[in-house]
Amino acid sequence: MSTQLFSLAGRTALVTGSSRGLGFAIARGLAEAGAAVVLNGTDAGRTERAAAELAGAGHSTRALAFDVTDDAAVAAAFKTLDDEGVAIDILVNNAGIQFRKPMVELDVADWRRVIETNLTSAFLVGRAAARRMIARGGGGKVINIGSLTSEVARATVAPYTAAKGGIKLLTRSMAAEWAEHGIQANAIGPGYMLTDMNQALIENRDFDAWVKSRTPARRWGRPEELIGAAVFLASPASDYVNGQIIYVDGGMLAVL
Ligand code: NDP
Repeated sequence: MSTQLFSLAGRTALVTGSSRGLGFAIARGLAEAGAAVVLNGTDAGRTERAAAELAGAGHSTRALAFDVTDDAAVAAAFKTLDDEGVAIDILVNNAGIQFRKPMVELDVADWRRVIETNLTSAFLVGRAAARRMIARGGGGKVINIGSLTSEVARATVAPYTAAKGGIKLLTRSMAAEWAEHGIQANAIGPGYMLTDMNQALIENRDFDAWVKSRTPARRWGRPEELIGAAVFLASPASDYVNGQIIYVDGGMLAVL
């Protein structure tokens, strides 16, 4: 099998929410596979530092801080890229937030914030990227970050679960609409991973024990363990794979 199948040389990727956590690991993996990478977060300083870290390792990077929930900010960010002649070939919709609260205590502002950050953002950034891919004559890859909760519900994270369930069908909608333009849209569903998002849970002995006992791999996932799926879905190796979600969860979904 040709290693060219997995090469991203000559491609440019935008990874939302890549100033840290899973997004940063994915950005690094795509860069190591040969892509130029545009990093993003809301915190400009953190986004710059993340881009500088990859640039220091010899990769081609650019920091572009913007809020993925803000339609005007997304439009402005893509205009900046257009003006610089940067065309996005690979989009990873990764930015997300989570917090835990029982539904009966949840107010609508919190509901909307979680839905907008985890689901509406993928529509907004996906639309901006796909419009340009289509205008250039087609071809491109969209990778949305789902979750185990794209498949199963957990208590106290209702808007997150609703958003991640939505990601699964938004991915299929993108695949259905954009396949004729040579664009493949797929998703990755991480299990319980070691990132800031889970810091309180990692430090909670009962939760830590629950994750380890319920995951066949008997441990949390490491951010870099998403790289294989991300490179596959970003590369020519997945050109006939469309609308799918790959779970990277140490086997948890198999036994939940
Ligand atoms: P982190 O909290 O570690 O990082 C979140 C990233 O998203 C940061 O770079 C943050 O940037 C960025 N971000 C948040 N809101 C926005 C916004 N409105 N606009 C732009 N960027 C934003 O999260 P993880 O790395 O753990 O999670 C990444 C993705 O993976 C999320 O979609 C999450 O739901 C999903 N996921 C995570 C799992 C896990 O176990 N960790 C499991 C399953 C799915 P900044 O700080 O600058 O705002």
